[in-house]
Amino acid sequence: MAKLYFRYGTMNSSKTANALMVAFNYHERGKKALLVKPVTDNREGTDPVISSRIGISMPAVFSTDFAQMTDEQICAYDCIVVDECQFLAPEEIDRFADIADRLNVPVICYGLRTDFQARLFPGSRRLFELADQIEEIKTICWCGRKAIINARIMNGKILTDGPQVLIGGNDSYVALCRKHWRAGDLGPRK
Ligand SMILES: [Zn+2]
Repeated sequence: MAKLYFRYGTMNSSKTANALMVAFNYHERGKKALLVKPVTDNREGTDPVISSRIGISMPAVFSTDFAQMTDEQICAYDCIVVDECQFLAPEEIDRFADIADRLNVPVICYGLRTDFQARLFPGSRRLFELADQIEEIKTICWCGRKAIINARIMNGKILTDGPQVLIGGNDSYVALCRKHWRAGDLGPRK
């Protein structure tokens, strides 16, 4: 039976590199994985490409185009790998559950747990509710403790107000442990 997976972590915890690696492993074994990304994530321009900081990238389809795909088209794949799931609507997550259950195609979702105010994204909340398997991809704060918060940074200060989604800058986020996020402590400057 196919499963719905949620693998979550903070920004820069190599979620995208993991997603690409999973797709690569499928291809290497002669199987087909379909990479999907939200249309709101347009850092790579208009082409649906998923790129990792470590320099690898692979073609993908936008979630809006994925929504138009028929059961038959989806069944042509051995696995669906979705990046930046936090930006998806709960209804899109519900469809992933349906794809796993009814079409027997596994769906592996990667995304952030919470926003810069440490509140769940709607898509992530739905994944916590529905996923068969939930795994944390860990990274560390400057202090060495596990980072769990995506602090939004401007001019060297942690912002606590603003819209939930501010696409386009990995540079404007820093992964911190809760203690240092609450204290507004970005650590010793480089
Ligand atoms: Zn810390």
